[in-house]
Amino acid sequence: MTGSTGGGWPPMREELRGIEPYGAPQLDVPVQLNVNENPYGPSEACVADIAAAAAAAAGTLNRYPDREFVALREALAAYLSKDTPAGIVPEQVWAANGSNEVMLQLLQAFGGPGRTAVSFAPTYSMYPEYARDTNTRWVAGRRAEDFALDLDAARDLVKTEQPSVILLPSPNNPTGTALPPEAVGVLCEAAGDDGIVVVDEAYGEFRRTGVPSALELLASYRNLVVTRTMSKAFAGAGLRLGYLAAAPEICDAIRVVRLPYHLSAVTQAVALAALGHAPELLGKVDDLRRERDALVDWLRAEAYDVADSDANFVLFGRFADRHAVWQGLLDQGVLIRETGPEGWLRVSVGTPDEMAAFRAALTDVNGERA
Ligand code: PMP
Repeated sequence: MTGSTGGGWPPMREELRGIEPYGAPQLDVPVQLNVNENPYGPSEACVADIAAAAAAAAGTLNRYPDREFVALREALAAYLSKDTPAGIVPEQVWAANGSNEVMLQLLQAFGGPGRTAVSFAPTYSMYPEYARDTNTRWVAGRRAEDFALDLDAARDLVKTEQPSVILLPSPNNPTGTALPPEAVGVLCEAAGDDGIVVVDEAYGEFRRTGVPSALELLASYRNLVVTRTMSKAFAGAGLRLGYLAAAPEICDAIRVVRLPYHLSAVTQAVALAALGHAPELLGKVDDLRRERDALVDWLRAEAYDVADSDANFVLFGRFADRHAVWQGLLDQGVLIRETGPEGWLRVSVGTPDEMAAFRAALTDVNGERA
């Protein structure tokens, strides 16, 4: 080895040394209920269309892709317009490789040294990583016992910390808790012109009837950003396509930090083809919501603590040794996620057969409880 880096090699940023990369275990087991994927794959007709679109893109690969991904932005705007009477225009839409990348770009543009990002724990564990990677100060407030936001406390925290970015998942991961629109409005007001409020609706399509999308508030608050993804309801986790709707000025700010041509021609073509099959790809959302509600009912009947869920997963507990329960399920071929507050576990909603396997395995591992 040559040279001296003080703290070992390779010469990483000090605060990154020894950190394990983020990620759930990817294990090849029969029942995979750990990363909130949609269990239903595309039909043959949809696969054929996507393959044709990818083939057409392949013929253009000597050229860089459309840097502004205009056709895709138009299609995403049309899709989002269904969720708000004011509609969404393409200039309000931005996309990247998963909503993870969209949110990292938001932190690159609006966070940074001397700035603060805020969220409310327990929440999505990638948020502090975006902050760390962009040298943004990270502050986590607490959620109430039932995982809802204590709005007064949240507003006070925003007033005290003056964050540049507030990350509000709705529904929240890992708890499944959706935010009422009033909460989003109050925090947009509290953040003012010096902060943006990001409502992360990765699981937005699964919310229960009567819970509106934050998209409806875009016309009222210019500092509001709503992120979505094709990974969950859209059954496109492998596609890596996340997007947002916000004021056009916010999209322009992201353009400054995005890498040129960050969305490949293949990604753009495949996402566009998938959007053309939206009714089919989203067609299982209602089934999954029903399956989720049935799972919540069953777990409660079995005397577990269960968080109300507007998402395609359920947080349940509490276990004195949650790792032992997680391992016991895995030994029976059922992979769930050991995440969230101590004592709780999270299970994604799968097909009826997968849920039956989960129920049987849990009963076996943890015994009849009711
Ligand atoms: N937000 C939340 C709350 C999530 O749970 C996830 C994925 N687990 C994401 C964003 C990122 O999803 P993707 O990058 O696949 O769009």
